[in-house]
Amino acid sequence: MALITNDEINAIRSKANIVDIIGSYLPLTQRGRNYLCVCPFHDDHSPSMSVSEEKQIYKCFACGNTGNVFTFVQNYEDVSFLDAVSIVAEKCGIDIDKRKLKSNNILINKEEYEIMNFAEKFFQNNLKTEFGTTAMDYLNRRGINEDIIKEFGIGLSLDTSDSLYNILLKKKYSASKMLELGLISQNADKNFDMFTRRITFPLWDKDGNIVGFSARIYRGEKDTSKYVNSRETKLFKKGETLYNYHHARDFVKQEKSIIVVEGFMDAIRLSIEGVKNVVALQGTALTKEQINLLKKLHVKVILCLDNDNAGETATLSNGEQLVKEGLEVYVIRLSGEKDPDEYILANGIEAFKNNIASSMTYFDFKVNYFKKNKDLSKTNDLALYVNQVLEEVANSNDEILTELTLKKISEEYDLSIDVLKEKIKGFKKVEAKEVKKFVKPVKEKKDAYLQSADKILFYMLNGGEFIDEYRKKLGFFEDALHREIANEIIYYYQKNNTINPADFISYVSDKDTIKNEVMDIVSDGMEDDISIEVMDGYINRVDKLMVKNEIKRLKIELKNETDASKKIKILDRITELKKND
Ligand SMILES: [Zn+2]
Repeated sequence: MALITNDEINAIRSKANIVDIIGSYLPLTQRGRNYLCVCPFHDDHSPSMSVSEEKQIYKCFACGNTGNVFTFVQNYEDVSFLDAVSIVAEKCGIDIDKRKLKSNNILINKEEYEIMNFAEKFFQNNLKTEFGTTAMDYLNRRGINEDIIKEFGIGLSLDTSDSLYNILLKKKYSASKMLELGLISQNADKNFDMFTRRITFPLWDKDGNIVGFSARIYRGEKDTSKYVNSRETKLFKKGETLYNYHHARDFVKQEKSIIVVEGFMDAIRLSIEGVKNVVALQGTALTKEQINLLKKLHVKVILCLDNDNAGETATLSNGEQLVKEGLEVYVIRLSGEKDPDEYILANGIEAFKNNIASSMTYFDFKVNYFKKNKDLSKTNDLALYVNQVLEEVANSNDEILTELTLKKISEEYDLSIDVLKEKIKGFKKVEAKEVKKFVKPVKEKKDAYLQSADKILFYMLNGGEFIDEYRKKLGFFEDALHREIANEIIYYYQKNNTINPADFISYVSDKDTIKNEVMDIVSDGMEDDISIEVMDGYINRVDKLMVKNEIKRLKIELKNETDASKKIKILDRITELKKND
């Protein structure tokens, strides 16, 4: 765990009503004591998730996802447990010291992040010196003002003589570390700055930590490449980041969409003009990790890639993947200028916003794309086109879309709708097999002992009197996992003098060996009414089963024992156990 205490985490949890927090993400309907909603963690079509206001936990009856308010936010927003604590605190208007919520990753790579932050500051400061005049002019000419420079951490790298390398060395950072972070390069045992005489743009990971830089020329140099980018390092994994993701994330909720562009200058340009729900691919092909980042935003994706053939092909392949992943995808194809940056500089932001408003669905984009390089007045081309469209419609599995498209094609090309309908059936068969149905994960059925042991632990999570009852009447589990959880529960209670399932979930969030089992136990007990009498029933059962198992174990021991006096001892023990049974 980090620097924040469990008490502080529990205080935040007790102020956050899980019904309000989950309700801020999804519509909830009250059903008896609990609330129901469609589960966001599997492909849910009927409300499978139940939220208990009384117990402050949630559970999906289909996929089994369960936990407290922090777990929900952690899973929904795909953030660390501590980030989830921070988000919940913010939603409840609780001020917390964010430094206390540094995740392990930040603590492990503390020095690395320090160096990257220092490099950013160094570059930024250069802009303000006499060496920065030309670069500032360049930026200002492109409409990049002080605020944007600050927001995006834009800076300037200088000549080798005033190098980042020398400054970092003076700060006692090692050359090997700088090399590891991709800030310098080595040639014949000499160290050189990676970025020289270029305007620098920090690159962030999904949480906003600086992990690399991209640097571009600004004085019209001809003999060098326009951009130099950080190479892959232990911090910087190009395929795992989307430029501006951590900024955009705050804006996608109100816009209910995320715009995906190619270059980071496109993202900056849109931000300058107030369109802040934008990320840049920094390339053309979406990786699996990037698709996952987009998925976690739970909004529609608007692809707005460059206005060239590569951009069009990339729109097709990226859109295809996103749709396959169940995302709602829209497409903007700009005309005239080559990318959003230049388009906005030439036509203004209002023109761009009109493009957003009239963006087409991915389906329409694709159907249009099929017309490319075809002459639809020719029978062959037309037949090919119609077939492509029909196959696409069949794959969409959307009856209304099918109906509308068939009507349109039938009218446009004077084809019989019955023929089209017949034709579509042929494509449908292949499709039916490919539909991914949500399959409920099969859990191993627990035996009577494990089921009852789970229940006892669940009762113990509900107050000191249940913990006392366990210590008085049982005090022991025969299996290591339940024993460990019981010990953790007792330890937790002794430390905090109070206990409930929701807080205990926070407590075990970083205890990998028992976390899943605790979640299971809490989820199974969610609907239970609790009383000492019912608990005693489970205790009796576990006690009996443990005695039975112990006798079984002793009998095997007896069989293998050769020493006569030891045999007698084992026999005595068996008799004693049977007496109490
Ligand atoms: Zn679910």
